[in-house]
Amino acid sequence: MRSYENPNKGPAGEALSTDAAYFGSEQAKKVLALVSATHGVEGFCGSGAQLDWLLGPGLSEFPADTALLVVHAINPHGFAWLRRVTEEGCDLNRNFVDFSATLPTNPGYDELADALLPEKLDGADYERMEAKIRDFREKRGEKAYQIARSGGQWKHSHGFFYGGDAPTWSRRTLEAIIADHKLASRRFVAVIDYHTGLGPHGYGEPICGHEPGTPNLEVARRWYGDSLTVPSLGTSSSVVKQGLAEHGWRRALGDRFVYVALEYGTYPPDAVRRAMQEDHWHHRRGRVDWDSPDVQRAKQALKHHYYPGTRAWQEMVLFRSRQVIRQALAGLARET
Ligand SMILES: [Zn+2]
Repeated sequence: MRSYENPNKGPAGEALSTDAAYFGSEQAKKVLALVSATHGVEGFCGSGAQLDWLLGPGLSEFPADTALLVVHAINPHGFAWLRRVTEEGCDLNRNFVDFSATLPTNPGYDELADALLPEKLDGADYERMEAKIRDFREKRGEKAYQIARSGGQWKHSHGFFYGGDAPTWSRRTLEAIIADHKLASRRFVAVIDYHTGLGPHGYGEPICGHEPGTPNLEVARRWYGDSLTVPSLGTSSSVVKQGLAEHGWRRALGDRFVYVALEYGTYPPDAVRRAMQEDHWHHRRGRVDWDSPDVQRAKQALKHHYYPGTRAWQEMVLFRSRQVIRQALAGLARET
């Protein structure tokens, strides 16, 4: 196992790292990669699914030419601090843009920036900002609001879904993991990136980031069948986003990989908006007093939103995870 040490500490002063555990032959022509905690606090789900497979079937269902790569906590800082973003305040899944080119824009976010994350979280000013959001949703519709809020933005460094102004530590670490494990020289790679927070409670939606017309999408359809969703075709609970981790994998692996974000539903996004505001509000002020009741209220609300943690929800997560892993293995077996 390789450990990639993060230069920062967790809330209790603990060391942070991303672990990459590789099982199987170094020469394996195919690799299945399981990635957790791209969005920090969502890592409880992904980590559980990874452990479930390792403690259960493990390599027993893997053919000799296929290896397993478990990437535990690609965003360890967000995981430890119970937030979606990295230590740079970035949404890692918006950070894989080409920073030497013109960055994408999100006029809807620009318009709502001061309302989504207001200066004050109570009083008349706050109510005015909430009214501005309600007005936007009524006039432009929910889809436009979802794109504005969560599509990604590269301008407001303390805001939500911020893609950053440079590759984050987590992005560079993922790129190092791909290089260190020589994934670009393999015949085919399958990636399952675990997420939570969108879609029906407990259901795992395999969201495909590959664009229509690409060979990757055709292969993904063969592997995952009709449950596969594609944001740009409007079939997903996710809108189209820029700077996704999938783009980083594509730059390294080209056509020889299939990527899905396995997205588990928890609660409606509105249910976490207040906790997200509080979380960003505290972190925007620099040092976060971890033990203060205000901080803990926001942190525990975020954790509950992205990890409901009931037995029933966990069972749905694990059932679907095993199913999708087996679909990926069957798919990889067909790629000769
Ligand atoms: Zn996510």
